[in-house]
Amino acid sequence: MSALVARQLRKTYRNGFEALKGIDLTVEEGDFFALLGPNGAGKSTLIGILTSLVNKTAGQVQVFGHDLDREPERVKALLGVVPQEFNFNIFLPVEEVVVNQAGYFGIPRAEARARAEHYLRKLDLWTRRKSEMRLLSGGMKRRLMIARALVHHPRLLILDEPTAGVDIEIRRSMWDYLRELNADGTTIILTTHYLEEAESLCRTIAIIDHGRVESVSDTATLLAAL
Ligand code: ADP
Ligand code: ADP
Repeated sequence: MSALVARQLRKTYRNGFEALKGIDLTVEEGDFFALLGPNGAGKSTLIGILTSLVNKTAGQVQVFGHDLDREPERVKALLGVVPQEFNFNIFLPVEEVVVNQAGYFGIPRAEARARAEHYLRKLDLWTRRKSEMRLLSGGMKRRLMIARALVHHPRLLILDEPTAGVDIEIRRSMWDYLRELNADGTTIILTTHYLEEAESLCRTIAIIDHGRVESVSDTATLLAAL
């Protein structure tokens, strides 16, 4: 089954700028998939459409066979999203950020607490559970966003530039954790402008530039051709 199918996706912003010019993309269940491209390629716009933050101009999106326009709530429940920017809930303690997100998905309080503990431990944030989110370092905030995105057990995890600005040691531990999640069956899509990140983590790499998909190949084939 395909985790994601996008057909002829287009986005024209209000100022007339065409950020996406007809994106066709299929991501199979279980894949670890990179959207690789320079700044301005349209990666965040694409993620924004998948996560209902950006209205598409045209095209279709299906997530595990569910149409984004017809079943938006169903699609939301299947997705976990780690955004690039996060300036909400800034005064909330770390643990509450995760518990509240679980509440948003209707998960009962006791279960939400148990899941929050599990993911905060996994992401090395448990000792900071009482800290307000605003007091965390950039790398910690990103890990918190991963815990928050996982709390409702999404089948597809989407990360927008997950390690931008994160130092090398933390980046490696985040990579290890993402590999573990993928090995356990979570399909992962990430955007990045680092070839190194795409090649180290991902099985499939789509190169996106100027609002188009330039190529889709498995990582080994792409590297052999460079
Ligand atoms: P990436 O994530 O690959 O860096 P983006 O999707 O953020 O690319 O941006 C793609 C293009 O769309 C860029 O040229 C950007 O300036 C433009 N863009 C993004 N948001 C808007 C907007 N709200 N209005 C007009 N242009 C935008
Ligand atoms: P509503 O429009 O129903 O208020 P939103 O779409 O604005 O809901 O989402 C509420 C919050 O949950 C936002 O912070 C949003 O970024 C986040 N969110 C929505 N869907 C997901 C998801 N599948 N995974 C992670 N966060 C999500």
